[in-house]
Amino acid sequence: MRRHSKPRAFKLNPEQCPALPMLSSRTLGTMSDTQQQLLVMKFGGTNMGDSRAIRHSGSLVGRSLTQGAQVVVVVSAMSGVTNQLLSIADAAERGDIAGANDAIAAMRTRHFTAAQELGAAPDSAEVRELRELHETLRQAVYGVYLLRELTPRSRDLIVAFGERLSAPLMSVALTQQGFKAHHLMGGQAGIITDNHFGNAKPLSTSAERIRDRLGGLLSAGITPVVSGFMGETEQGAITTLGRGGTDFSATIIGAALGADEVWAWKDVDGVMTADPRSVPAAQNIAQLSYGEVMELAYFGAKVLHPLAVTPLQQAGIPLRVKSAADPDFAGTLVTAEPERDDSRPVKAVTAIKNASIINVAGAGILGAPDVVAEIFGALARESITLLMVSQSSSMSNVSLVIPGGHEERTTQALSTRLSAQGLQLEVQRGVAVLAIVGSGMYGTKGVSAKLFGALAQADVNILMISQGSSELNISVAIEESDVDTATRAVHTAFGLDAASGA
Ligand code: ADP
Ligand code: ASP
Ligand code: MG
Repeated sequence: MRRHSKPRAFKLNPEQCPALPMLSSRTLGTMSDTQQQLLVMKFGGTNMGDSRAIRHSGSLVGRSLTQGAQVVVVVSAMSGVTNQLLSIADAAERGDIAGANDAIAAMRTRHFTAAQELGAAPDSAEVRELRELHETLRQAVYGVYLLRELTPRSRDLIVAFGERLSAPLMSVALTQQGFKAHHLMGGQAGIITDNHFGNAKPLSTSAERIRDRLGGLLSAGITPVVSGFMGETEQGAITTLGRGGTDFSATIIGAALGADEVWAWKDVDGVMTADPRSVPAAQNIAQLSYGEVMELAYFGAKVLHPLAVTPLQQAGIPLRVKSAADPDFAGTLVTAEPERDDSRPVKAVTAIKNASIINVAGAGILGAPDVVAEIFGALARESITLLMVSQSSSMSNVSLVIPGGHEERTTQALSTRLSAQGLQLEVQRGVAVLAIVGSGMYGTKGVSAKLFGALAQADVNILMISQGSSELNISVAIEESDVDTATRAVHTAFGLDAASGA
């Protein structure tokens, strides 16, 4: 089933909740009638944006609880708060403590207003906790100001306050509906990570700890509300899982608990054939594989964290991406092997903006695999993400596409390692990577021809081409100024527009 997505008002009235359609549980066939279904539900920034959105999100949890399911709730910060916290931390580092404190005060008002509108009493535990959290945040920011130093560790401590502040609000929303709820930080819920602050990965010890920390609450009939995006190191330092990390928190927890399904509630109908903000004709994709979702997220589809499906793969736990505005719509179901639709080899078009091409050229590359190894080694040591690579030995050059902002670091790392070979480096900024994704491309002829034809017809110049042997995606680098035109042209060429696919 596919359909067009457009912004809609909430359709669900909490007082008139329609019954949920039968859940397609992974274990349904083996479950006894009395065994409760376990769902992990994730709510993003928009779904936590204000008291109305939080109440609505709470009602989506409530209707599954009412139907007898157990639910673990994982929440993001209120929309915009993560970016505000990053700006607050930067302001403190620059010495602008007045600006930082003003922003903290505005944030405080926003959380207090939401708590009050949700019905929390001024002396309730949640309101007291919000007050304490803001005070601790203020102190952490003041520490950065005094030192004029913002380390990745202190940035993580500060930025995770967004999720710490929103969890009590969801607890209030659930309590107001008559459910028992208990909120916890990511680390308290058992998410233990390595110490890659800003982009931490969960350690395998997390699974048992998550079962320990959340199992007891669930069996006592209490709904855990976990602050997403964050975990902690073995030593108890707060870490974050990378931007958009609440999706990842939910799947880490889902996998550890052996949940029946993980549901990511969104402000869109599910995973769409393109970002609906740049392609208004984008439609919902009914089914995707874990691999396809990873490719989509890696190539810029912001809808899910690139690693979100990885914890679910081994146990084959399905992920549903659902519209909070239209909860009865199926959304997108992500599983290991969805049905193949041969009429649509390409399922989606995505783009990464703000990238740069680094061209490494010189006769020294010709027939010298060690030079290529040096190039990759230098980038790996600097932790620079490679979005695309292409090598043309006849022209003695290697072209790399990297995210914008890392140009200096990349050229520096390469020139120190490669100066002996007499290689020249050239940087081209203002590049975008456009990718088409779909497992049906495998073995289907003419897909590249259609892609290049559509780009040529839209007068878009291709700077680089890459196709992985998995044939899950084909990506091209183009001028960033062409990216919207190009995405729309490719979307239409592959029959993904609402008009052609509905
Ligand atoms: P959340 O806070 O719920 O995680 P995000 O803002 O991170 O929400 O992700 C949802 C947004 O992702 C949508 O509003 C949409 O603009 C964007 N997006 C980009 N590509 C896609 C896509 N292919 N399908 C759906 N949404 C997409
Ligand atoms: N609040 C975090 C972010 O904005 C995490 C998330 O939304 O998933 O990146
Ligand atoms: Mg997100």
